[in-house]
Amino acid sequence: MRTPILTLVLMSLFAATAHAQKNEKKRPPIIDVHVHAYERSDSWTNKVPNPRTGQPLTATNEQAHMQATLAEMKKHNIVKAFVSNHYPAVLRWQAAAPDRIMSSYGFDDPATVDLAFLRSEHAAGRLVALGEVAIQYEGIAANDPKMEPIWALAEELDLPVGLHTGLAPKRTPYTCCPKFRNTLGNPALLEEVLIRHPKLRVYLMHAGFPYLQETIAIMHMYPQVYADLAVIDWTRPREEFHEYLRALLRSGYGKRLMFGSDQMVWPEAVGLAVEGVESATFLTAEQKRDIFYNNAVRFFRLENK
Ligand SMILES: [Zn+2]
Repeated sequence: MRTPILTLVLMSLFAATAHAQKNEKKRPPIIDVHVHAYERSDSWTNKVPNPRTGQPLTATNEQAHMQATLAEMKKHNIVKAFVSNHYPAVLRWQAAAPDRIMSSYGFDDPATVDLAFLRSEHAAGRLVALGEVAIQYEGIAANDPKMEPIWALAEELDLPVGLHTGLAPKRTPYTCCPKFRNTLGNPALLEEVLIRHPKLRVYLMHAGFPYLQETIAIMHMYPQVYADLAVIDWTRPREEFHEYLRALLRSGYGKRLMFGSDQMVWPEAVGLAVEGVESATFLTAEQKRDIFYNNAVRFFRLENK
């Protein structure tokens, strides 16, 4: 019996869809070490479009933003995400997806941090990291005395810390944050902290971009320091990001670079960030696995979690 052509076409289409779904399931797991949750955001009020794609905001309140981000994570098989500020929102995300959301405490101004609260959150098993530590937006450097009690606590509790380094959106000192300075994001400013707190586990958010030489210097001298590729993997020109990533690999830091999206208010940034790393043709399959997953498992000690 001859099979009608239409049936053949439909069968092959069905097979292609089934194949795609199978591939989707087989996508290896990813850990995103840099995600944000908010209770409210000026970006939602102002409907700030995605800076990379120009697409309008799709989710403009906490619940919609969380649902869209969790869906995006599922799509890319992101099995864990370290989510920070605003902390009460983080806890609500954690309650909604307890296996996938790791609660991190972020802040801009160290004067707002209640150390006793951090201790009790840590003791209760809710708090697993500090960060995003975005003190640069308040004109404060990593080695500022105001940060000292927080570094000491992180070292004592063995809490990993994500420190914002490098740049911020264009014109930041003219807009939200008059005290912001590029130069305060130089990873070299972390050196005295690492001397005082040799057991501190810290990762450079945004991999110190564009302070490549200083990032290499810190990562060379202090092998405990890791870095994430968040935001530079989707907002910078692709070629520039790849050159930066390649330079860090060439220096031998392929086992200490971690995938991050820094999705902020744009859930689709997760996919854009995955694509930014995925499209780096110079990475071996093993290097990709390290960046997407293995390095974060080691840094955050997730082996049994
Ligand atoms: Zn961030």
